[in-house]
Amino acid sequence: MTQNLISIQLIYLVSTALFILSLKWMSHPLTARRGIVSGVVAMVAAVIGALMTPHLASCHWIIGAIAVGFVLGVPLAMVPLTAVPQRTALSHAFGGLAAGLVAVAEYYLHYTQFTPEQLTPFTTGALIAEALLGFLTFTGSLMAAGKLQEWIPTRPITYKGQNAINFSLLGLALLCGVLLVWHSNWWPLFPVIVALSLTFGVLLIIPIGGADMPTVISLLNSYAGLSAVAMGFVLKNNLLIAAGALDGSSGLILSIIMCKAMNRSFVNVLFGAFGQVQAASSAGPEQRTAKSATAEDAAQIMDAARTVVIIPGYGMAVAQAQHRVRELYDSLTKRGVDVKFAIHPVAGRMPGHMNVLLAEAEIPYDKLIEMDEINPEMPETDVAVVLGANDVVNPAARHDKSSPIYGMPIIDADKAKTVFVIKRSMNPGFAGIENELFFGANTLMLFGDAKVVLTNLVQALKE
Ligand code: NDP
Repeated sequence: MTQNLISIQLIYLVSTALFILSLKWMSHPLTARRGIVSGVVAMVAAVIGALMTPHLASCHWIIGAIAVGFVLGVPLAMVPLTAVPQRTALSHAFGGLAAGLVAVAEYYLHYTQFTPEQLTPFTTGALIAEALLGFLTFTGSLMAAGKLQEWIPTRPITYKGQNAINFSLLGLALLCGVLLVWHSNWWPLFPVIVALSLTFGVLLIIPIGGADMPTVISLLNSYAGLSAVAMGFVLKNNLLIAAGALDGSSGLILSIIMCKAMNRSFVNVLFGAFGQVQAASSAGPEQRTAKSATAEDAAQIMDAARTVVIIPGYGMAVAQAQHRVRELYDSLTKRGVDVKFAIHPVAGRMPGHMNVLLAEAEIPYDKLIEMDEINPEMPETDVAVVLGANDVVNPAARHDKSSPIYGMPIIDADKAKTVFVIKRSMNPGFAGIENELFFGANTLMLFGDAKVVLTNLVQALKE
C-alpha cells in the first residue's frame, strides 16, 4: 500500500515536471512540437497515477467518461485553425463543468458522511471556490464560444446598472459562501451558489464585444485553473494543485500580454463594452476614395523592389493562403529581393496565429520579425504587402484620440514607399472601424480573396 502511494506521488512529480517543461518548450516555435508531446505524456501519466489510487472501487465509469471525452474531443481537434479560439472556449467550458461537478459530488459526499473533521471550514471554502469558479467558467466559456462562432450577437449587450447587478450577484454568491463556511449545516446555500455562479458566467460575458473574446477566453482559462487548484486541495491531490496553478497563471499571463499588445486594461476589456464605442465612432463615413490596382500592376512595382515586407493578418488565415505566400516569397527571393514578414502580437485571432500558419508553409523562422523590430525598417521598405490584416496596420491607432484603438501599437505599413492591401472589400476589420491606410497616397488596394490574388501575383511575376 505505502509503496503504491509512493509510486503515485513519483508519477505525479514526473507529470508536474513534464507539464512545466511543456509550457517552456511551447513558448518557442523550434521546440513547440516537443512541448506538445511532453504535455500529452504528462497527461497520460497523470491519468495512470489517478487510476492507481488505492480506494478506487471500479473503473467502469472512468472508462465510460474517457470514451465520451474521446468521441467529443476528436472532432473538436479537427476544426480549422480559424475556429481554434471558439474550440478553446468549449474546452474551457468542459474543464469548468468538470470542476464544478466534482465540487457538487464532493460536497454531497462530505455532507452525507458528515463528521466535523471531514467538512472543515477549509474544505467547505475550497469546495465553494471550486464550484463558483468552475460553473462561472462553464457558462462564461459557452457564451464566449457562441459569440466567436456568431451563434449569439457579437456586439456588447448593455443596460443600465449592469455592472452593479453583476457585482451584486457575485457579492451574493460570496456572502452565501461565507455563511456556509460558518454554518456547515445550511446546505441549501450550496445549490444557490451554483445557480448564482452559472448566472454570473452568462452576465459577465454579455456586455463584452466579440473582438475581446480571445482575451476573455484566456482569462476564463485562468479561472478554470484556479478551480482545479481548489479541487486539488479538496481531493488532496498535489498534481491537480500544481497543474491548476500552471493553468491559472499561464492564462492570466496570456491575457496580460494580449491587453498590453492592444494597449487596453483588464477593466476596459471586461467592462468597456468595446464594440459599442466602435459602432459610434464608425458612423458618418467620409467621402474618401481608395485606389485599386491589378495583380499585373502590383507585379511591375514589385519587380523593381529591393525590400518587401509582408504583413499577414486574419484574412490570410481565412483564405488559408499561407502556401501561396510561400510561393510569392520564393519567387521574390529568387529575384534577389529581401523579403521579411512583420508579425503583430495580436494579428489573427490568437497570439502566435500567424507564426503557426507561416511555419506550416515552411517560411524560414528568422524571416518572421516582431513588430518593434520591423517598425524602424518600414520607412526604408520599398513595398509593404498587407495580407488580410486590417486593425493591426490602422494608423488611426497612432494619432486619432477619438479612435477606439487609439494607443494600440501597430505595424507602420503606411510608412513604406508603396503599400499593397490584399482584401476582398472595404469592410472594416475585427474592431469594426474604418482604416485610413486604405486611402493613403501610397496605397493600392488589390481586391479579392487572398489566395486568388496571391496566385495571380505570382503568375504575373513569372510572366
Ligand atoms: P482584422 O480582423 O482586423 O482584419 C482582417 C481582414 O481580413 C478583414 O478586414 C477582412 O476584410 C480580411 N479578410 C477576411 N477574409 C479574407 C480573405 N479570404 N481574403 C482576403 N482578406 C480577407 O485582422 P488583424 O489580424 O489585422 O487584427 C486582429 C484583430 O483581432 C485586432 O482587432 C485584434 O485586437 C483582435 N484580437 C486579436 C487577438 C489575438 O490574440 N490575435 C486577441 C484579441 C483580439 P474583407 O472582409 O474586406 O476581406
